[in-house]
Amino acid sequence: MTRLIASLSMDLDNQWAYLRAAGRPQWAQSPCYFSKVIPRIVELLNQVDLPLTVFLVGRDLEAGASVAAIERFVDLKEHEFCNHSYNHDPWLHTLRRDEIEHEIDRTSALIQQRFGQSPLGFRGPGFSCPESVLSILAERSFEYDASLFPTSMAPLARAYYMLKTGLRGEDRQRASQLYGTWRSMRQPNRPFLRELTQGGSDPQHDHPDQRLWEVPVTVMPLTRTPIHFSYLTYLASFSTLAAKTYFRTALHTCQLTGTAPSLLLHPPDFMGREDDTAMDFFPAMQMPVEKKLAIVRWALQQFQFRFEVRTMADQVASLAGTAGPQHAADASAAVQVVGSES
Ligand SMILES: [Zn+2]
Repeated sequence: MTRLIASLSMDLDNQWAYLRAAGRPQWAQSPCYFSKVIPRIVELLNQVDLPLTVFLVGRDLEAGASVAAIERFVDLKEHEFCNHSYNHDPWLHTLRRDEIEHEIDRTSALIQQRFGQSPLGFRGPGFSCPESVLSILAERSFEYDASLFPTSMAPLARAYYMLKTGLRGEDRQRASQLYGTWRSMRQPNRPFLRELTQGGSDPQHDHPDQRLWEVPVTVMPLTRTPIHFSYLTYLASFSTLAAKTYFRTALHTCQLTGTAPSLLLHPPDFMGREDDTAMDFFPAMQMPVEKKLAIVRWALQQFQFRFEVRTMADQVASLAGTAGPQHAADASAAVQVVGSES
């Protein structure tokens, strides 16, 4: 059987970003766990021979020490650096257009300056994907956005987060859109081409001004439950057997439905109770490091066995390559028109 072309990415969210989102005052000292966790990530991914797309936060590219740690990713079989905003503000949808432009442009400039790569992809913090962001990405010639998380579990994930962090007042109100809304559940669970028009959703306007691929963070087909690795380690904190059964079922369902997964890692997937991160609110942070690495390694091997795993840029390039005349019907079904004024 031909293996579908899938992708693997990581949101390189730093310790300060998690502590800030949880309302912990220690975040102001900019605590950084990169020098501890990145060597672990690189070692494990090299063991299983996988590439990685890394979404970088601009603020972390200002300091020499964190840049030096991030440089370790070049030791991977293959890597791609992408844009995850400058301040990792999960309330991106509430910012003015010029503020969003700064978030995107400053980070792209830093990635170019530090690593000599121009990022092709963007993922909004907190899976925020408003049209104002999409149109800026298309104007900047980004090839894809990866901010969609079409899960049925968004309200539950948000409730868990509120409970664990104990956020209050304005922070609590702003977090009410975290992880997306019920609407995001009805969005596609596989990559599609967005057509962004300046004239709104006018059907006569048949020449799109810009195009942008959307690569959602894949969820389990049908149930729309998450299959990213933080969810898997969360399940494993109750039962390793249940977590493995769930993950196998998810990958199998993706194969059956022809869904090529784009799966997502986070640094805490490689950290545990020995690491003293003050991140007790994050799922499975009480798990011993070795146990967590074992389950993540197992899951990545399963993923690689069933799919041809590449960087997101390569996955998008392969999609663009199939949108030729012989696949015209498929391609048109995968196009969604997004009007900038709708
Ligand atoms: Zn993030």
